[in-house]
Amino acid sequence: MRLRVNGRARRISLRIDRARREVVASAPSLHRLSEAADFAKSRAAWIAARMAELPQPSTLAPGQVIEVFGQPVRLASAEGRARWIAASADQPTEIRAMGEGEGFARAVKLLIRKQALNMFEARSAHYAGRLGAATPKVAVTDTTSRWGSCTPARPGGAGSIRYSWRLALAPFAVADYVAAHECAHLLEANHGPKFWAHVRALVGDERPHRAWLRAHGAALHAFGAQQGL
Ligand SMILES: [Zn+2]
Repeated sequence: MRLRVNGRARRISLRIDRARREVVASAPSLHRLSEAADFAKSRAAWIAARMAELPQPSTLAPGQVIEVFGQPVRLASAEGRARWIAASADQPTEIRAMGEGEGFARAVKLLIRKQALNMFEARSAHYAGRLGAATPKVAVTDTTSRWGSCTPARPGGAGSIRYSWRLALAPFAVADYVAAHECAHLLEANHGPKFWAHVRALVGDERPHRAWLRAHGAALHAFGAQQGL
């Protein structure tokens, strides 16, 4: 359990941080922290029920088939440098990496992360172009709190956007919506009507994509979590 002081909060509260798989008890001030801890103890059954609902942390192992941007990818153990093998008539795309266990999982994750960077660079350049904005600098990170964040351009410089690499584990349309969303922030640093008008002009109705992220976000964070990825 994590104990937290939140100066803006009015009261003691409990929530489940789905990405980190932990309980967060918040108190409005330091001297009420022990009260927050007691409150959490009194709600142990509720906490256990919420934790049990979380997706199981997954392991990455040879033989598994995962989906990367909605396309099936088989994980295979093979000697040599970790690499993608394009799909053929009778088999899906493969990721081949050495060994098994943690080293294998780490190599797989690095390849997916690289793929995510390539995809987000391309889609951000595309959407920024459609919005008449300069191509932003793009990076991928492993933040647990947000899927993307955008720093709009300052005079004389390009904007920059960071995406969670775990969006590669979502369907392409969902990840692509996040790219459009962050690019719209290059023009509008808020979630006002003008911002949403830009997003809808790029990808149409955003609601199914947002609903998908709410429903499956925790599963994306559980991916590889068994191996500490
Ligand atoms: Zn936003």
